[in-house]
Amino acid sequence: MTAANTNEDQFAILRRTMVEQVALHADHVSGKTGRDAIAHPVMEAIGRVPRHAFVPVEMTLYAYLDSPLPIGCGKTISQPFIVALMTDLLEIGAGHRVLEIGTGLGYQAALLAELAAEVYTVELIKELGQSGRRRLDEQGYGNVQFRIGDGSLGWPDHAPYDRIIATAAPDLIPPALLQQLKPGGRMVIPAGLEDDQRLLLVTKDEGGRYETDEILPVRFSHLMSGADEHDSGD
Ligand code: SAH
Repeated sequence: MTAANTNEDQFAILRRTMVEQVALHADHVSGKTGRDAIAHPVMEAIGRVPRHAFVPVEMTLYAYLDSPLPIGCGKTISQPFIVALMTDLLEIGAGHRVLEIGTGLGYQAALLAELAAEVYTVELIKELGQSGRRRLDEQGYGNVQFRIGDGSLGWPDHAPYDRIIATAAPDLIPPALLQQLKPGGRMVIPAGLEDDQRLLLVTKDEGGRYETDEILPVRFSHLMSGADEHDSGD
């Protein structure tokens, strides 16, 4: 057996442990989330995606902890339980077109690509978006389209979307995202002021009316505007 194989086997073992931790965590907070368990297809997808391929190389050893990790440029990848919960809340169908705001290094996009037909992902920071794209390409996720830009404007060219997910938090839900959600669609988005964010589930009925449920208090990095990115000097 080659060293590379041994590593992959070890990652597979670590990944199984992470999946068990995610299931325990979901059970523990089911009273708050109103969901007894993460759906099987989501758990299976988490069991398949090599999270170590979607974190910076110096974080590889920690990739399978149920914990958030830095991904560079001051950003973090959410802890696996939160990624699982958000993905579960979306209730993705195999034929769905999904929009993600905040590609980062692409872990969430990989999970979406496992479950949906088409994934469109938008990242404001070029360096992260390009790295995410390379990682998703290397892992063979051919059903993901990428864009560098301000995701608070959505991606109108491919709208409407069956599902929308944001992995950075605006103060208020951007109107463009509400507009680009299909009637009958679902959106999962953290929103609120820095110390008072909630994970929200937005559903749009066939008549175009919205309903918003608060799921959990959360802490995400802020959804920046194009001007913020300009100010950061990148
Ligand atoms: N989904 C990522 C986690 C990314 S963290 C993963 O699985 O790795 C949130 C990301 O949102 C950061 O990469 C940040 O640069 C990006 N972001 C912040 N504001 C944005 C905006 N207005 N448009 C697009 N992306 C944005």
